Amino acid sequence: MNQRRPGFPARLPSASSGPGAPKPSMSNPVRAVPRVAPAPAGVGLDSSTVRERMVRRLADSGIGSASVLAAMGAIERHRFVDSALVNQAYEDTSLPIGLGQTISKPSIVARMAELLLGAPVAKTEGLGRILEIGTGCGYQAAVLGRIAKEVYTIERLRALHEKARDNLRPLRLTNVHLILGDGMLGYPKGAPYAAIISAAGGEQLPEQWCDQLAVGGRLVAPMAGPDGKQILLVVDKTTAGLKQTVLEAVNFVPLKSGVA
Ligand code: SAH
Repeated sequence: MNQRRPGFPARLPSASSGPGAPKPSMSNPVRAVPRVAPAPAGVGLDSSTVRERMVRRLADSGIGSASVLAAMGAIERHRFVDSALVNQAYEDTSLPIGLGQTISKPSIVARMAELLLGAPVAKTEGLGRILEIGTGCGYQAAVLGRIAKEVYTIERLRALHEKARDNLRPLRLTNVHLILGDGMLGYPKGAPYAAIISAAGGEQLPEQWCDQLAVGGRLVAPMAGPDGKQILLVVDKTTAGLKQTVLEAVNFVPLKSGVA
């Protein structure tokens, strides 16, 4: 991570084209929450082969963590998308999940998971309890459930919270806990967290996230950069304070407050 470090907390000016700017795929948001695909024929029949191919692409593109690759290979992404989109489930693309939200593309899920495993505390003890902001359809939570001991995941939209619950039920991941609430406030009941990951990009870093991070813990989140465009931000909490690292440009749905 060779990047510049802005002052902390990151309170960087937004621009009209700013962080909330939806992806091209969001220009036609699905208003209703689509029904979840059951075991889709076609992809479902041989999904392990398609997934293996996806995992190979992730490895080729630089994901080196065996546990992240194993998690990406194990979780069936096609079960988290609408049946009409099943054929695209293993392409490296974000897809609509209803209510104008998207399931993140596999490469960014893997990238962020690998960054979480880089938390100083994870290097010595493995990844303990973590918090995900933005459950969405629950896909990333399922992946994280395979690399962390406990996952608390919080979603502000009730319909998606329920959809994620339905999607995750058959997986019986007893270490993944779904919460309906405003993730901008974090989730103090589970704190301190070894890592916090946000699937939605804000204008500035909520102070609660840093407060709820353990010493040796790491936060990974999209955030508005100086030019208003989103960048991926890593914050490590050390005994000496917070250390920020700015990574590549990203494109996430906006972080919003309140429950709806
Ligand atoms: N990880 C998800 C990605 C979902 S997109 C997946 O695998 O599907 C990001 C999600 O963040 C959206 O569902 C959006 O509703 C949610 N979100 C935005 N602001 C939030 C907030 N303050 N608290 C909780 N969830 C939030």
